[in-house]
Amino acid sequence: MDMKLVPLARWSGSERAPLVIAGPCAAESEEQVLETARRLAEARVHYFRAGIWKARTRPNTFEGIGEQGLPWLRRAGTEFSLKTATEIAQPAHVELALEHGIDLLWIGARTTVNPFSVQELANALRGTEVPVLIKNPTSPDLALWMGAIERVHGAGVKALGVIHRGFSVAGKSTYRNEPMWDMVIELRRTMPEMPIITDPSHITGRRDLIHSISQRAMDFGIDGLMIATHPNPDQAWSDAAQQITPERLAEILGQLHVRRSGTDDASANRSLRELRETIDRIDQDLLGVLAERSSVVEHIGEWKRAKNVTSFRPARWNALLEDRTGRAAVLGLDEDYVKAIYEVIHRESVRRQSQIMDDGESPGI
Ligand code: PEP
Ligand code: MN
Repeated sequence: MDMKLVPLARWSGSERAPLVIAGPCAAESEEQVLETARRLAEARVHYFRAGIWKARTRPNTFEGIGEQGLPWLRRAGTEFSLKTATEIAQPAHVELALEHGIDLLWIGARTTVNPFSVQELANALRGTEVPVLIKNPTSPDLALWMGAIERVHGAGVKALGVIHRGFSVAGKSTYRNEPMWDMVIELRRTMPEMPIITDPSHITGRRDLIHSISQRAMDFGIDGLMIATHPNPDQAWSDAAQQITPERLAEILGQLHVRRSGTDDASANRSLRELRETIDRIDQDLLGVLAERSSVVEHIGEWKRAKNVTSFRPARWNALLEDRTGRAAVLGLDEDYVKAIYEVIHRESVRRQSQIMDDGESPGI
């Protein structure tokens, strides 16, 4: 998809990855905001974030300090030479945040899920040059995320990026929100110019995992990190378990291995090219073998149609899966990996055979 965007380096003024956005989940008091910013000024931070309006799951919890917090944020930015950032969820928030000179706005995950809200925000943002970041929707729905990006871009916002904050999924998980990296990889494939910032705080929900998710983001070539930082995390009025001190943030940033998108080393590049050519050849063989397998599957389908036998044979499937995962283990391949591949192959075989059996056959009992 061809989107004309202002590059991240231009709108942020930061040439070197990762871009770092840090600050408390929520602004609680002027002292807390200023203290966080003061302690963050020592770390490698570009934007100082603080939630002013908080979309909370339950009412009667702290829903943000509101408009009165905007001057605190501005003061923190000015005193400690940090750009400022806050979440906007309604057109009135956009107006107020811009009025108070906030430097970057983001749309929260609970807003991205609603196209009406996103469109209202897009309309309110029309004409602004302030960068806007769009968090992924809470549900793992890439189209919904891309739709929100298109709405904001459609309103003429060119300094645009996204925040990957993980997805709600059913069942128990180590994470508060599953990272689902595949989703991010697919977004990067379809919108290669779109800056992606990962939010390890909302993904993990717990401070001990923030470092590992941040490193994973660097391994994937993610452009930046948004990390919730509080002067006294355990006492935070919201999201206490996932906030870290500014000093801990500095430590994590100092330990990150930041990957580059390539190297100038000609001989290293040559050997990578050769390895990739080998992969291309292997994939060609793999596709050939899959095509050969499919044609045998079709013959079996015809045999099953002639003999009026079901396309799905549980005993055969079980035996096949057991045999193939066993062979995989001998070859040093991960059994779950091979099992997942065979599940896809088998699903396609059953689909193809059912199609053959249904084609040109009259129903009969
Ligand atoms: C936040 O960044 O404070 C926030 C509310 O995040 P999310 O929209 O990802 O839940
Ligand atoms: Mn939060």
